[in-house]
Amino acid sequence: MNKTALITGSSAGIGEAIARRLVKEGYKVFLTGRNEQRLKKIATDINAKGYWVGDLSEPDGANKLFCEAQKTLGNIDILVNNAGEYVWSSVETTTKDKIAHLFHLNLQVPYELCTLVVPEMKSNKYGRIVNIGSISGVVGEANASLYSASKSGLIGMSKAMALELAEYNITVNVVNPGWVKTELADKCFDGCDMDEAECIDMIPQRRFIHPNEVAGMVNYLLSDDAKGTTGQSINLCAGLSVG
Ligand code: NAD
Repeated sequence: MNKTALITGSSAGIGEAIARRLVKEGYKVFLTGRNEQRLKKIATDINAKGYWVGDLSEPDGANKLFCEAQKTLGNIDILVNNAGEYVWSSVETTTKDKIAHLFHLNLQVPYELCTLVVPEMKSNKYGRIVNIGSISGVVGEANASLYSASKSGLIGMSKAMALELAEYNITVNVVNPGWVKTELADKCFDGCDMDEAECIDMIPQRRFIHPNEVAGMVNYLLSDDAKGTTGQSINLCAGLSVG
């Protein structure tokens, strides 16, 4: 397998699980996140091709990451837009700064990275883009309208790009996890008015999704079996979105 993959937010949680799975499947991966120590350890553990430490919410973050990944990987066949933050905030306490920050990190950076990787994917007539959305972008979440809006944006973006890029053998899909037990989820419980037990009670399967389940879905979307799957918004939520 010679395919190369850039995975954002791969120093922890879901992104780390995706990176570990893709290396196991034979992909050459490039990692990125904000925690150098962790990135270094994961990169050594899994024999990643390289990593870039940086804050993607900085104005030139996406471009810097792309340049570093391209220097290391050469061609980028696969982009997994996973890095993202959650904000728990009622409508009236959501400031302009929070809006700009979250839309930039959760929506603008994934879009910018697509603009950077697509030209070469088009000329190679091969590309796979997987965006990690959230079930909160499919069904509404009270006090998380900003997060929901940013994740819904990824669904619209994925559908439109899938149409535009279909004839170039580039697929674009979005995976929407429900609650996954990661640092992000732990921070949510610290900041919101629900604890872990109450959360599990509300999930039809009465359990969190494991990061490896998201990694498995991403791996499937990259496989030849999924070459006809594009523009899809796939809920991986232990039943949360059904009713
Ligand atoms: P996490 O906090 O465990 O890990 C987040 C990763 O993104 C880390 O590698 C971190 O360094 C990186 N990251 C965050 N902000 C960044 C920034 N400004 N610049 C560069 N990198 C940054 O989170 P997670 O739970 O693994 O979430 C991964 C994705 O899955 C996010 O997009 C999140 O919205 C989505 N998601 C998570 C859950 C959940 O319950 N955990 C549910 C649905 C969707």
